Amino acid sequence: MTKPVYLDYAAATPLDERVLEEMRPYFSTTFYNPAATYLAAQDVRKAVEAARSRVALLLGARSSEVLFLPGATAANRYAIEAVMKRYAGKKLLASAVEHPSILRLLHEYNGCEIPVDTAGILDINALRRLIDDEVVLVSVMYANNEMGAIQPLPAVSGLLAEVRDQRRKAGNTLPLYFMTDASQAANYLDLHVSRLGVDLMVLNGGKVYGPKQTAVLYARAGLDLHPHGGTENVPGVIGCAAALELAQSNRQAEAERLKVLQKLFLDLLMAKIPEVIINGSLTHRVPNNVHITIPGEDNERLLMALDEAGIMAAAGSACMASGEEPSHVLKAMGVSDADAQASLRFTMGRGTTEDDIRRTVDVLAGLVAQHPA
Ligand code: PLP
Repeated sequence: MTKPVYLDYAAATPLDERVLEEMRPYFSTTFYNPAATYLAAQDVRKAVEAARSRVALLLGARSSEVLFLPGATAANRYAIEAVMKRYAGKKLLASAVEHPSILRLLHEYNGCEIPVDTAGILDINALRRLIDDEVVLVSVMYANNEMGAIQPLPAVSGLLAEVRDQRRKAGNTLPLYFMTDASQAANYLDLHVSRLGVDLMVLNGGKVYGPKQTAVLYARAGLDLHPHGGTENVPGVIGCAAALELAQSNRQAEAERLKVLQKLFLDLLMAKIPEVIINGSLTHRVPNNVHITIPGEDNERLLMALDEAGIMAAAGSACMASGEEPSHVLKAMGVSDADAQASLRFTMGRGTTEDDIRRTVDVLAGLVAQHPA
């Protein structure tokens, strides 16, 4: 039996053994509620606070600015609702390629989508035109979960700083906050919040070889956010912090390694499947993402056949895999519905090898040849 090839790391990552070891005692021997008063529970409280400090250090933030939430979907919702409820009737802007957990909030808050170009990169000039005196929050993800585009966060924060300045001069006291969903970025990119110029940032434990349904929300001091989450998921909090720390400590080396594999993957695809279209930006892209269209093909058929051959991949995005609607991300990039349904996403990770890539392209080329468009 050949080893299965897993190429869906944007959907889920395996728990790092070192993270599991850090989490283990908090499931059993040190199970106490961190809010309890006895000494043993205070040790658990200290462990939670240590996890908060570890994350703060990675972000260049204060511990009091780091909150733990049950998953990135919950963190995105909490952050947006907390800000928007405070400024009732004001506007939210979000990029057209955000995760559904953010896009679905747009209509609740007079929202408007910021368009992207054909590579999926935010259109800064469109953002400039969309920011009127009523906008209070702008949400632009760091790296896209479908086609891997890295968004120009410093350019967005620079523009928002200009607008804040204009507002100050005009006597408009409405704040203008910048939020980023960095769920897919933490394995490869810098998370320093001041360098990025963000006020709110969401990180996802389940995408960085930590436990699923764990997330960090960074909320700049002054935003004063206090989620009421009940008893903390102590192993989850500790696992999320440990996983983020490991991911960030090795991010440059892992990005370099994957960049080589990504180039090999793309070169082999173009050589063996000449009709292939590479979606997304080639320059502003996380190094683990390969997103393609093979015109005339049916991605469901290809995915099933790949699975039978022991290769796990995704169609556009995991959330869309069983849905009927073509991906909103590809639509925003101007990809036709027919091409969207002929698109596949491969996302690499720590376990991915050169052999995995060669085998995947060979199998895929064979499947396409068997079924001429
Ligand atoms: N944001 C992005 C960019 C994601 O990729 C995901 C998960 O795929 C989420 C948010 C939601 O994360 P979760 O399903 O862990 O709540």
